[in-house]
Amino acid sequence: MKVFINAQIISPTVELPVGADAIAVKDGIISAIGKSAELSAGATEIIDLKGAVLLPGFVDPHAHPLMYGQMMDWVDVGPSKAKNITQIIEILKREEAALPAGVPLRAFGYEHRNLEEGRHPTKEDIDQISTTREIYVMNASGHGGAVNTLVLEKSAITAKTPDPKGGAFERDASGNPTGVIWDAACDILTGDAGVKVTNHGPNFHLPDTQSVLTKQFLQAQHEFIRHGVTSVGDAQVSQREFDTYKDAKKNGALKVRYSMYLISSQVGHAKKLSQDAAIDNTMLTANGIKMYADGTLGGWTAYFPEGYKADKNRTGQLYHDAQEFESIFLDCATQGYHIATHAQSPTAIGMVISSARAMRNKEIKSVNGAFPIVRIEHCGLPQEKQSHELHDLEIIAVNQPIHHHNWGDGVVTAVGNEIGERFNPLGEFVKNGVSFALSSDAPVGKPNPFEAMAAAMDRLTVHGTELGANDLKIDARTALIAHTMGGAKALGKADLIGSIEVGKYADFAVVDANPLAAGPAAMRAITVLATYLGGQRSF
Ligand SMILES: [Zn+2]
Repeated sequence: MKVFINAQIISPTVELPVGADAIAVKDGIISAIGKSAELSAGATEIIDLKGAVLLPGFVDPHAHPLMYGQMMDWVDVGPSKAKNITQIIEILKREEAALPAGVPLRAFGYEHRNLEEGRHPTKEDIDQISTTREIYVMNASGHGGAVNTLVLEKSAITAKTPDPKGGAFERDASGNPTGVIWDAACDILTGDAGVKVTNHGPNFHLPDTQSVLTKQFLQAQHEFIRHGVTSVGDAQVSQREFDTYKDAKKNGALKVRYSMYLISSQVGHAKKLSQDAAIDNTMLTANGIKMYADGTLGGWTAYFPEGYKADKNRTGQLYHDAQEFESIFLDCATQGYHIATHAQSPTAIGMVISSARAMRNKEIKSVNGAFPIVRIEHCGLPQEKQSHELHDLEIIAVNQPIHHHNWGDGVVTAVGNEIGERFNPLGEFVKNGVSFALSSDAPVGKPNPFEAMAAAMDRLTVHGTELGANDLKIDARTALIAHTMGGAKALGKADLIGSIEVGKYADFAVVDANPLAAGPAAMRAITVLATYLGGQRSF
Protein backbone atom coordinates (compact mmCIF):
# COMPACT_ATOMS: atom_id res chain seq x y z
CA MET A 1 0.00 0.00 0.00
CA LYS A 2 1.34 3.37 -1.10
CA VAL A 3 0.53 6.30 1.19
CA PHE A 4 0.70 10.00 0.33
CA ILE A 5 1.22 11.99 3.54
CA ASN A 6 1.31 15.65 4.58
CA ALA A 7 -1.00 16.77 1.78
CA GLN A 8 -3.42 19.67 1.78
CA ILE A 9 -6.29 17.75 0.19
CA ILE A 10 -8.80 19.83 -1.79
CA SER A 11 -11.80 18.05 -3.27
CA PRO A 12 -14.76 20.41 -3.09
CA THR A 13 -17.54 17.97 -4.00
CA VAL A 14 -16.89 15.64 -1.05
CA GLU A 15 -16.73 15.90 2.72
CA LEU A 16 -13.27 14.71 3.78
CA PRO A 17 -12.68 13.16 7.21
CA VAL A 18 -11.75 15.84 9.77
CA GLY A 19 -7.99 16.50 9.77
CA ALA A 20 -7.38 14.26 6.75
CA ASP A 21 -3.96 14.91 5.21
CA ALA A 22 -3.13 11.47 3.79
CA ILE A 23 -4.35 9.10 1.09
CA ALA A 24 -3.69 5.37 0.85
CA VAL A 25 -3.59 3.75 -2.58
CA LYS A 26 -3.95 0.06 -3.37
CA ASP A 27 -3.86 -1.33 -6.93
CA GLY A 28 -4.25 2.16 -8.35
CA ILE A 29 -7.42 2.88 -6.35
CA ILE A 30 -7.88 5.16 -3.33
CA SER A 31 -8.30 2.74 -0.43
CA ALA A 32 -8.37 5.14 2.54
CA ILE A 33 -8.35 8.85 3.37
CA GLY A 34 -7.21 9.90 6.84
CA LYS A 35 -4.40 11.27 8.97
CA SER A 36 -0.73 10.83 8.03
CA ALA A 37 0.25 9.13 11.29
CA GLU A 38 -2.57 6.58 11.09
CA LEU A 39 -2.30 5.64 7.41
CA SER A 40 1.52 5.47 7.45
CA ALA A 41 1.33 2.48 9.76
CA GLY A 42 0.32 0.04 7.01
CA ALA A 43 2.37 1.60 4.21
CA THR A 44 4.87 -0.20 1.99
CA GLU A 45 5.86 3.12 0.38
CA ILE A 46 5.44 6.65 1.73
CA ILE A 47 5.35 9.75 -0.43
CA ASP A 48 5.74 12.92 1.64
CA LEU A 49 4.05 15.82 -0.14
CA LYS A 50 5.43 18.28 2.48
CA GLY A 51 2.30 20.38 2.72
CA ALA A 52 1.67 20.72 -1.03
CA VAL A 53 -1.92 20.92 -2.32
CA LEU A 54 -3.38 17.68 -3.69
CA LEU A 55 -6.31 18.03 -6.11
CA PRO A 56 -8.31 15.45 -8.05
CA GLY A 57 -6.58 14.97 -11.43
CA PHE A 58 -8.13 17.40 -13.91
CA VAL A 59 -10.63 16.12 -16.44
CA ASP A 60 -10.56 17.70 -19.92
CA PRO A 61 -13.68 16.27 -21.57
CA HIS A 62 -13.15 17.95 -24.97
CA ALA A 63 -9.74 17.97 -26.63
CA HIS A 64 -8.03 16.62 -29.75
CA PRO A 65 -4.77 15.05 -28.54
CA LEU A 66 -3.49 13.72 -31.86
CA MET A 67 -4.44 16.87 -33.76
CA TYR A 68 -2.71 18.87 -31.02
CA GLY A 69 0.43 16.76 -31.38
CA GLN A 70 0.35 17.30 -35.14
CA MET A 71 -0.03 21.05 -34.74
CA MET A 72 3.05 21.02 -32.51
CA ASP A 73 4.93 19.51 -35.50
CA TRP A 74 3.40 21.54 -38.32
CA VAL A 75 4.93 24.84 -39.32
CA ASP A 76 3.51 27.69 -37.23
CA VAL A 77 2.23 30.53 -39.43
CA GLY A 78 0.05 32.05 -36.72
CA PRO A 79 -0.15 35.79 -35.89
CA SER A 80 3.03 35.74 -33.80
CA LYS A 81 5.04 34.44 -36.80
CA ALA A 82 3.48 36.05 -39.88
CA LYS A 83 1.68 39.37 -40.28
CA ASN A 84 1.00 38.93 -43.99
CA ILE A 85 0.93 36.38 -46.82
CA THR A 86 4.43 37.36 -48.01
CA GLN A 87 5.82 36.36 -44.61
CA ILE A 88 3.87 33.07 -44.69
CA ILE A 89 5.46 32.31 -48.07
CA GLU A 90 8.95 33.20 -46.78
CA ILE A 91 8.60 30.96 -43.72
CA LEU A 92 7.30 28.05 -45.79
CA LYS A 93 10.01 28.41 -48.46
CA ARG A 94 12.65 27.94 -45.75
CA GLU A 95 10.85 24.90 -44.33
CA GLU A 96 10.27 23.41 -47.78
CA ALA A 97 13.97 23.54 -48.60
CA ALA A 98 14.74 21.34 -45.59
CA LEU A 99 12.10 18.64 -46.28
CA PRO A 100 12.91 15.34 -48.01
CA ALA A 101 11.31 14.87 -51.45
CA GLY A 102 7.74 13.55 -51.46
CA VAL A 103 6.88 14.58 -47.89
CA PRO A 104 3.89 16.94 -47.81
CA LEU A 105 4.43 20.37 -46.26
CA ARG A 106 1.82 21.30 -43.65
CA ALA A 107 1.36 24.51 -41.75
CA PHE A 108 -1.18 25.85 -39.29
CA GLY A 109 -2.56 28.93 -37.68
CA TYR A 110 -3.14 31.92 -40.00
CA GLU A 111 -6.27 33.97 -39.36
CA HIS A 112 -7.24 35.61 -42.64
CA ARG A 113 -8.92 38.62 -41.03
CA ASN A 114 -5.75 39.39 -39.10
CA LEU A 115 -3.43 39.20 -42.12
CA GLU A 116 -2.53 42.58 -43.64
CA GLU A 117 -4.13 41.49 -46.92
CA GLY A 118 -7.34 40.57 -45.06
CA ARG A 119 -7.75 37.43 -47.18
CA HIS A 120 -6.72 33.78 -47.37
CA PRO A 121 -3.58 32.75 -49.27
CA THR A 122 -4.49 31.37 -52.73
CA LYS A 123 -3.04 28.51 -54.75
CA GLU A 124 -0.95 31.08 -56.67
CA ASP A 125 0.56 32.20 -53.35
CA ILE A 126 1.21 28.64 -52.20
CA ASP A 127 2.61 27.60 -55.62
CA GLN A 128 5.46 30.08 -55.01
CA ILE A 129 6.65 27.68 -52.29
CA SER A 130 6.51 24.54 -54.43
CA THR A 131 4.56 23.12 -57.36
CA THR A 132 5.96 19.58 -56.94
CA ARG A 133 5.20 18.95 -53.27
CA GLU A 134 1.72 18.83 -51.68
CA ILE A 135 1.18 21.83 -49.41
CA TYR A 136 -1.68 22.53 -47.00
CA VAL A 137 -1.82 25.66 -44.85
CA MET A 138 -4.58 25.16 -42.30
CA ASN A 139 -6.63 28.10 -41.05
CA ALA A 140 -6.61 28.72 -37.27
CA SER A 141 -10.23 27.47 -37.10
CA GLY A 142 -9.18 23.96 -38.17
CA HIS A 143 -12.13 23.92 -40.58
CA GLY A 144 -10.20 24.53 -43.80
CA GLY A 145 -7.31 26.40 -45.38
CA ALA A 146 -5.29 26.87 -48.53
CA VAL A 147 -3.62 24.30 -50.79
CA ASN A 148 -1.35 24.51 -53.83
CA THR A 149 -2.34 23.59 -57.39
CA LEU A 150 -0.82 20.12 -57.06
CA VAL A 151 -3.30 19.15 -54.32
CA LEU A 152 -6.25 20.27 -56.45
CA GLU A 153 -4.87 18.47 -59.52
CA LYS A 154 -4.37 15.21 -57.64
CA SER A 155 -8.08 15.14 -56.84
CA ALA A 156 -9.00 16.57 -60.29
CA ILE A 157 -10.74 19.58 -58.76
CA THR A 158 -11.66 22.04 -61.54
CA ALA A 159 -14.19 24.76 -62.26
CA LYS A 160 -16.61 21.97 -63.22
CA THR A 161 -16.36 20.18 -59.83
CA PRO A 162 -19.47 20.89 -57.77
CA ASP A 163 -19.08 21.82 -54.09
CA PRO A 164 -19.63 18.83 -51.82
CA LYS A 165 -22.56 18.92 -49.40
CA GLY A 166 -21.37 20.72 -46.27
CA GLY A 167 -18.23 22.16 -47.83
CA ALA A 168 -16.83 24.49 -50.47
CA PHE A 169 -14.01 25.03 -52.93
CA GLU A 170 -13.75 28.81 -52.97
CA ARG A 171 -13.79 30.17 -56.51
CA ASP A 172 -12.76 33.24 -58.50
CA ALA A 173 -15.13 35.23 -60.75
CA SER A 174 -14.87 32.63 -63.51
CA GLY A 175 -15.56 29.71 -61.19
CA ASN A 176 -12.02 28.37 -60.94
CA PRO A 177 -10.98 27.04 -57.52
CA THR A 178 -8.74 29.53 -55.67
CA GLY A 179 -7.07 26.87 -53.53
CA VAL A 180 -9.10 27.72 -50.42
CA ILE A 181 -11.12 24.74 -49.23
CA TRP A 182 -13.68 24.47 -46.43
CA ASP A 183 -15.17 21.70 -44.32
CA ALA A 184 -16.38 18.74 -46.41
CA ALA A 185 -14.05 19.83 -49.24
CA CYS A 186 -11.15 18.97 -46.91
CA ASP A 187 -11.91 15.30 -47.65
CA ILE A 188 -9.57 15.69 -50.67
CA LEU A 189 -6.63 16.02 -48.25
CA THR A 190 -6.84 12.49 -46.89
CA GLY A 191 -6.29 10.61 -50.17
CA ASP A 192 -8.20 7.72 -51.73
CA ALA A 193 -7.95 5.41 -48.72
CA GLY A 194 -8.14 8.11 -46.04
CA VAL A 195 -10.80 9.13 -43.53
CA LYS A 196 -13.84 10.82 -45.10
CA VAL A 197 -15.98 13.09 -42.94
CA THR A 198 -18.32 14.48 -45.68
CA ASN A 199 -20.86 16.89 -44.17
CA HIS A 200 -20.38 15.57 -40.63
CA GLY A 201 -17.63 17.99 -39.57
CA PRO A 202 -14.20 19.33 -40.44
CA ASN A 203 -11.66 16.79 -41.66
CA PHE A 204 -8.30 17.09 -39.94
CA HIS A 205 -7.58 13.35 -40.07
CA LEU A 206 -4.61 13.64 -42.44
CA PRO A 207 -2.76 10.37 -42.94
CA ASP A 208 0.82 9.80 -41.85
CA THR A 209 2.90 6.80 -40.85
CA GLN A 210 1.89 5.26 -37.52
CA SER A 211 5.27 5.96 -35.95
CA VAL A 212 4.96 9.66 -36.81
CA LEU A 213 1.36 9.83 -35.52
CA THR A 214 2.24 8.06 -32.28
CA LYS A 215 5.21 10.35 -31.71
CA GLN A 216 2.97 13.39 -32.29
CA PHE A 217 0.30 12.05 -29.96
CA LEU A 218 2.81 11.38 -27.17
CA GLN A 219 4.20 14.90 -27.32
CA ALA A 220 0.65 16.22 -26.89
CA GLN A 221 -0.01 13.76 -24.05
CA HIS A 222 2.96 15.21 -22.20
CA GLU A 223 1.33 18.67 -22.33
CA PHE A 224 -1.82 17.32 -20.65
CA ILE A 225 0.17 15.52 -17.96
CA ARG A 226 2.37 18.46 -17.07
CA HIS A 227 -0.75 20.55 -16.48
CA GLY A 228 -2.22 17.99 -14.08
CA VAL A 229 -4.76 16.49 -16.53
CA THR A 230 -5.40 12.77 -15.98
CA SER A 231 -8.55 12.14 -18.09
CA VAL A 232 -9.34 13.42 -21.57
CA GLY A 233 -12.39 13.13 -23.83
CA ASP A 234 -11.20 12.90 -27.43
CA ALA A 235 -13.90 14.91 -29.17
CA GLN A 236 -13.42 13.62 -32.72
CA VAL A 237 -12.10 10.14 -33.32
CA SER A 238 -11.62 8.30 -36.60
CA GLN A 239 -9.74 5.05 -37.19
CA ARG A 240 -6.54 7.13 -37.27
CA GLU A 241 -6.92 8.30 -33.66
CA PHE A 242 -8.03 4.86 -32.48
CA ASP A 243 -5.02 3.16 -34.12
CA THR A 244 -2.75 5.68 -32.42
CA TYR A 245 -4.24 5.02 -28.98
CA LYS A 246 -3.84 1.30 -29.59
CA ASP A 247 -0.24 1.70 -30.68
CA ALA A 248 0.61 3.80 -27.60
CA LYS A 249 -1.26 1.38 -25.32
CA LYS A 250 0.59 -1.64 -26.76
CA ASN A 251 3.85 0.04 -25.74
CA GLY A 252 2.58 1.00 -22.29
CA ALA A 253 2.73 4.67 -23.24
CA LEU A 254 -0.82 5.77 -22.31
CA LYS A 255 -0.44 8.04 -19.28
CA VAL A 256 -3.87 9.71 -19.42
CA ARG A 257 -7.28 7.99 -19.46
CA TYR A 258 -8.96 8.57 -22.83
CA SER A 259 -12.67 8.48 -23.66
CA MET A 260 -13.30 8.49 -27.41
CA TYR A 261 -16.16 10.11 -29.34
CA LEU A 262 -16.29 8.72 -32.86
CA ILE A 263 -17.17 11.27 -35.58
CA SER A 264 -20.76 10.64 -36.74
CA SER A 265 -19.74 9.94 -40.37
CA GLN A 266 -18.07 6.76 -39.03
CA VAL A 267 -21.00 5.58 -36.93
CA GLY A 268 -21.12 2.37 -38.99
CA HIS A 269 -17.71 1.43 -37.51
CA ALA A 270 -18.67 2.23 -33.92
CA LYS A 271 -19.75 -1.29 -32.94
CA LYS A 272 -16.56 -2.83 -34.28
CA LEU A 273 -14.45 -0.21 -32.54
CA SER A 274 -16.18 -0.66 -29.18
CA GLN A 275 -15.59 -4.44 -29.32
CA ASP A 276 -11.84 -4.09 -29.93
CA ALA A 277 -9.65 -5.73 -27.29
CA ALA A 278 -7.80 -2.44 -26.72
CA ILE A 279 -10.94 -0.97 -25.12
CA ASP A 280 -10.36 -1.76 -21.44
CA ASN A 281 -12.67 0.94 -20.00
CA THR A 282 -9.78 1.92 -17.72
CA MET A 283 -7.24 3.66 -19.97
CA LEU A 284 -9.32 3.61 -23.15
CA THR A 285 -13.11 3.85 -23.46
CA ALA A 286 -15.38 4.04 -26.51
CA ASN A 287 -17.74 6.65 -25.12
CA GLY A 288 -20.01 7.82 -27.85
CA ILE A 289 -20.51 9.77 -31.03
CA LYS A 290 -19.45 13.31 -31.96
CA MET A 291 -21.84 15.31 -34.09
CA TYR A 292 -21.70 18.83 -35.51
CA ALA A 293 -24.70 21.14 -35.63
CA ASP A 294 -23.10 24.39 -36.88
CA GLY A 295 -19.68 25.90 -37.61
CA THR A 296 -17.22 27.99 -35.61
CA LEU A 297 -17.64 31.42 -34.03
CA GLY A 298 -14.01 32.29 -34.78
CA GLY A 299 -14.49 31.56 -38.49
CA TRP A 300 -17.99 33.15 -38.65
CA THR A 301 -19.47 29.81 -39.71
CA ALA A 302 -21.65 29.33 -36.61
CA TYR A 303 -25.23 29.58 -37.88
CA PHE A 304 -27.20 32.81 -37.52
CA PRO A 305 -30.11 32.63 -40.02
CA GLU A 306 -30.74 36.41 -39.77
CA GLY A 307 -27.12 37.13 -40.77
CA TYR A 308 -24.16 38.39 -38.77
CA LYS A 309 -24.44 41.89 -37.32
CA ALA A 310 -21.16 42.83 -39.01
CA ASP A 311 -22.13 41.27 -42.38
CA LYS A 312 -25.79 40.62 -43.05
CA ASN A 313 -24.98 38.56 -46.15
CA ARG A 314 -23.20 35.99 -44.04
CA THR A 315 -25.24 33.46 -42.07
CA GLY A 316 -22.73 30.72 -41.31
CA GLN A 317 -23.94 27.17 -41.80
CA LEU A 318 -25.52 24.06 -40.44
CA TYR A 319 -23.90 20.70 -41.16
CA HIS A 320 -27.29 19.00 -41.39
CA ASP A 321 -30.82 20.35 -41.74
CA ALA A 322 -32.85 19.92 -38.56
CA GLN A 323 -34.57 16.76 -39.79
CA GLU A 324 -31.35 15.01 -40.85
CA PHE A 325 -29.70 16.06 -37.59
CA GLU A 326 -32.47 14.60 -35.48
CA SER A 327 -32.55 11.35 -37.40
CA ILE A 328 -28.76 10.80 -36.96
CA PHE A 329 -29.05 11.82 -33.30
CA LEU A 330 -31.90 9.41 -32.53
CA ASP A 331 -30.19 6.62 -34.44
CA CYS A 332 -27.02 7.06 -32.30
CA ALA A 333 -29.10 7.23 -29.12
CA THR A 334 -31.01 4.07 -30.06
CA GLN A 335 -27.71 2.26 -30.58
CA GLY A 336 -26.71 3.17 -27.02
CA TYR A 337 -24.12 5.88 -27.64
CA HIS A 338 -23.64 9.03 -25.62
CA ILE A 339 -23.84 12.02 -27.96
CA ALA A 340 -21.60 15.08 -27.92
CA THR A 341 -22.66 17.79 -30.41
CA HIS A 342 -20.73 20.88 -31.46
CA ALA A 343 -23.24 23.78 -31.30
CA GLN A 344 -22.57 27.50 -30.86
CA SER A 345 -25.52 29.61 -32.04
CA PRO A 346 -29.00 29.61 -30.48
CA THR A 347 -30.37 27.88 -33.61
CA ALA A 348 -27.78 25.09 -33.44
CA ILE A 349 -28.19 24.69 -29.68
CA GLY A 350 -31.95 24.55 -30.25
CA MET A 351 -31.50 21.61 -32.65
CA VAL A 352 -29.75 19.60 -29.94
CA ILE A 353 -32.40 20.58 -27.39
CA SER A 354 -35.25 19.42 -29.62
CA SER A 355 -33.48 16.15 -30.49
CA ALA A 356 -32.82 15.48 -26.79
CA ARG A 357 -36.50 16.16 -26.10
CA ALA A 358 -37.50 13.72 -28.86
CA MET A 359 -35.16 11.10 -27.36
CA ARG A 360 -36.86 11.53 -23.99
CA ASN A 361 -40.36 11.48 -25.46
CA LYS A 362 -39.51 8.23 -27.22
CA GLU A 363 -38.09 6.84 -23.94
CA ILE A 364 -34.80 5.83 -25.61
CA LYS A 365 -33.12 4.56 -22.41
CA SER A 366 -30.41 2.65 -24.21
CA VAL A 367 -27.45 2.87 -21.79
CA ASN A 368 -27.99 0.40 -18.93
CA GLY A 369 -31.64 1.43 -18.71
CA ALA A 370 -30.83 5.15 -18.64
CA PHE A 371 -30.86 7.89 -21.27
CA PRO A 372 -27.56 8.40 -23.09
CA ILE A 373 -25.63 11.48 -21.89
CA VAL A 374 -26.32 14.43 -24.17
CA ARG A 375 -23.56 17.03 -24.27
CA ILE A 376 -23.33 20.33 -26.13
CA GLU A 377 -19.74 21.10 -27.04
CA HIS A 378 -18.78 24.79 -26.60
CA CYS A 379 -22.41 25.96 -26.16
CA GLY A 380 -21.08 29.50 -26.53
CA LEU A 381 -24.18 31.59 -27.18
CA PRO A 382 -27.34 30.00 -25.75
CA GLN A 383 -30.30 32.27 -25.01
CA GLU A 384 -31.21 32.44 -21.33
CA LYS A 385 -34.48 30.61 -21.95
CA GLN A 386 -32.48 27.76 -23.48
CA SER A 387 -30.51 27.33 -20.25
CA HIS A 388 -33.78 26.30 -18.56
CA GLU A 389 -34.27 23.70 -21.28
CA LEU A 390 -30.68 22.45 -20.83
CA HIS A 391 -31.45 22.03 -17.14
CA ASP A 392 -34.79 20.27 -17.69
CA LEU A 393 -33.36 17.85 -20.26
CA GLU A 394 -30.15 17.22 -18.26
CA ILE A 395 -27.97 18.33 -21.17
CA ILE A 396 -24.35 18.99 -20.14
CA ALA A 397 -22.58 22.04 -21.60
CA VAL A 398 -18.89 21.31 -22.25
CA ASN A 399 -17.43 24.79 -22.34
CA GLN A 400 -14.03 26.32 -23.17
CA PRO A 401 -13.39 29.65 -21.40
CA ILE A 402 -10.22 30.07 -23.46
CA HIS A 403 -12.48 30.67 -26.50
CA HIS A 404 -13.95 33.87 -25.02
CA HIS A 405 -10.52 34.83 -23.71
CA ASN A 406 -8.97 34.55 -27.21
CA TRP A 407 -11.85 35.62 -29.46
CA GLY A 408 -14.36 37.44 -27.26
CA ASP A 409 -13.73 40.80 -28.95
CA GLY A 410 -14.11 39.30 -32.42
CA VAL A 411 -17.36 37.59 -31.47
CA VAL A 412 -18.79 40.86 -30.12
CA THR A 413 -17.91 42.51 -33.45
CA ALA A 414 -19.43 39.63 -35.43
CA VAL A 415 -22.76 39.22 -33.66
CA GLY A 416 -23.12 42.54 -31.80
CA ASN A 417 -22.80 43.51 -28.12
CA GLU A 418 -26.10 42.20 -26.89
CA ILE A 419 -25.46 38.59 -27.92
CA GLY A 420 -21.65 38.61 -28.07
CA GLU A 421 -21.02 39.84 -24.53
CA ARG A 422 -22.91 36.82 -23.23
CA PHE A 423 -20.34 34.46 -24.83
CA ASN A 424 -19.91 31.46 -22.46
CA PRO A 425 -22.57 32.52 -19.89
CA LEU A 426 -21.35 30.23 -17.10
CA GLY A 427 -22.73 32.35 -14.24
CA GLU A 428 -26.16 32.03 -15.84
CA PHE A 429 -25.69 28.26 -16.04
CA VAL A 430 -25.04 28.22 -12.28
CA LYS A 431 -28.15 30.33 -11.63
CA ASN A 432 -30.35 28.09 -13.79
CA GLY A 433 -28.92 24.76 -12.61
CA VAL A 434 -27.26 23.75 -15.89
CA SER A 435 -24.57 21.06 -15.54
CA PHE A 436 -21.36 22.14 -17.21
CA ALA A 437 -17.71 21.18 -17.55
CA LEU A 438 -14.63 23.22 -18.42
CA SER A 439 -12.16 22.04 -21.04
CA SER A 440 -9.40 23.16 -23.39
CA ASP A 441 -10.38 22.09 -26.93
CA ALA A 442 -6.60 21.66 -27.43
CA PRO A 443 -5.02 22.55 -29.84
CA VAL A 444 -7.47 25.50 -29.92
CA GLY A 445 -6.47 26.31 -26.34
CA LYS A 446 -3.50 25.06 -24.33
CA PRO A 447 -4.55 22.26 -21.98
CA ASN A 448 -3.92 24.39 -18.88
CA PRO A 449 -6.87 24.08 -16.46
CA PHE A 450 -5.70 27.07 -14.41
CA GLU A 451 -5.94 29.38 -17.43
CA ALA A 452 -9.39 28.02 -18.24
CA MET A 453 -10.62 28.47 -14.66
CA ALA A 454 -9.19 32.01 -14.44
CA ALA A 455 -10.86 33.00 -17.74
CA ALA A 456 -14.20 31.72 -16.42
CA MET A 457 -13.66 33.82 -13.27
CA ASP A 458 -12.66 37.18 -14.80
CA ARG A 459 -14.14 36.96 -18.34
CA LEU A 460 -11.25 39.05 -19.64
CA THR A 461 -10.22 38.81 -23.29
CA VAL A 462 -6.64 38.97 -24.57
CA HIS A 463 -7.32 42.63 -25.41
CA GLY A 464 -8.37 43.33 -21.81
CA THR A 465 -12.11 43.63 -22.49
CA GLU A 466 -14.33 42.42 -19.67
CA LEU A 467 -17.18 40.55 -21.34
CA GLY A 468 -20.72 41.15 -20.13
CA ALA A 469 -22.23 41.54 -16.69
CA ASN A 470 -20.62 40.32 -13.46
CA ASP A 471 -23.24 37.63 -12.96
CA LEU A 472 -21.86 35.72 -15.98
CA LYS A 473 -18.66 35.03 -14.01
CA ILE A 474 -18.15 32.03 -11.76
CA ASP A 475 -16.09 31.67 -8.59
CA ALA A 476 -12.97 29.53 -8.03
CA ARG A 477 -14.83 26.71 -6.30
CA THR A 478 -17.37 26.39 -9.13
CA ALA A 479 -14.56 26.51 -11.70
CA LEU A 480 -12.56 23.79 -9.94
CA ILE A 481 -15.62 21.53 -9.70
CA ALA A 482 -16.40 22.13 -13.39
CA HIS A 483 -12.86 21.05 -14.40
CA THR A 484 -12.92 17.91 -12.21
CA MET A 485 -16.35 16.44 -11.31
CA GLY A 486 -18.05 18.40 -14.11
CA GLY A 487 -15.79 16.70 -16.65
CA ALA A 488 -16.23 13.33 -14.95
CA LYS A 489 -20.02 13.64 -15.34
CA ALA A 490 -19.68 14.73 -18.97
CA LEU A 491 -17.69 11.54 -19.64
CA GLY A 492 -20.15 9.38 -17.68
CA LYS A 493 -17.40 8.51 -15.19
CA ALA A 494 -18.54 10.29 -12.05
CA ASP A 495 -18.14 7.06 -10.08
CA LEU A 496 -14.47 6.63 -11.11
CA ILE A 497 -12.79 10.05 -11.41
CA GLY A 498 -13.26 13.75 -10.58
CA SER A 499 -12.89 13.72 -6.79
CA ILE A 500 -10.79 12.31 -3.94
CA GLU A 501 -12.97 9.46 -2.68
CA VAL A 502 -12.36 5.91 -1.54
CA GLY A 503 -12.94 3.52 -4.45
CA LYS A 504 -12.00 6.03 -7.18
CA TYR A 505 -8.82 6.00 -9.27
CA ALA A 506 -5.85 7.54 -7.47
CA ASP A 507 -5.50 10.28 -10.09
CA PHE A 508 -4.04 13.45 -8.56
CA ALA A 509 -2.55 16.81 -9.44
CA VAL A 510 -0.11 18.11 -6.82
CA VAL A 511 0.18 21.91 -7.02
CA ASP A 512 1.89 24.78 -5.22
CA ALA A 513 -1.16 26.78 -4.05
CA ASN A 514 -4.79 26.28 -3.12
CA PRO A 515 -6.97 27.27 -6.12
CA LEU A 516 -9.97 27.85 -3.84
CA ALA A 517 -8.08 30.72 -2.20
CA ALA A 518 -6.96 32.23 -5.53
CA GLY A 519 -8.22 35.21 -7.48
CA PRO A 520 -7.89 34.99 -11.28
CA ALA A 521 -4.29 36.26 -11.38
CA ALA A 522 -3.12 33.89 -8.63
CA MET A 523 -5.05 31.07 -10.33
CA ARG A 524 -3.08 31.60 -13.58
CA ALA A 525 0.17 31.44 -11.59
CA ILE A 526 -0.47 28.06 -9.93
CA THR A 527 2.16 25.49 -10.89
CA VAL A 528 1.75 21.72 -11.11
CA LEU A 529 4.48 20.00 -9.08
CA ALA A 530 3.54 16.39 -9.86
CA THR A 531 0.81 14.36 -11.56
CA TYR A 532 -0.20 10.84 -10.49
CA LEU A 533 -2.28 8.36 -12.47
CA GLY A 534 -3.54 5.38 -10.50
CA GLY A 535 -1.03 6.32 -7.81
CA GLN A 536 1.92 6.19 -10.26
CA ARG A 537 3.81 9.39 -10.92
CA SER A 538 3.42 10.44 -14.57
CA PHE A 539 4.94 13.93 -14.22
ZN1 LIG B 1 -13.03 20.62 -30.61
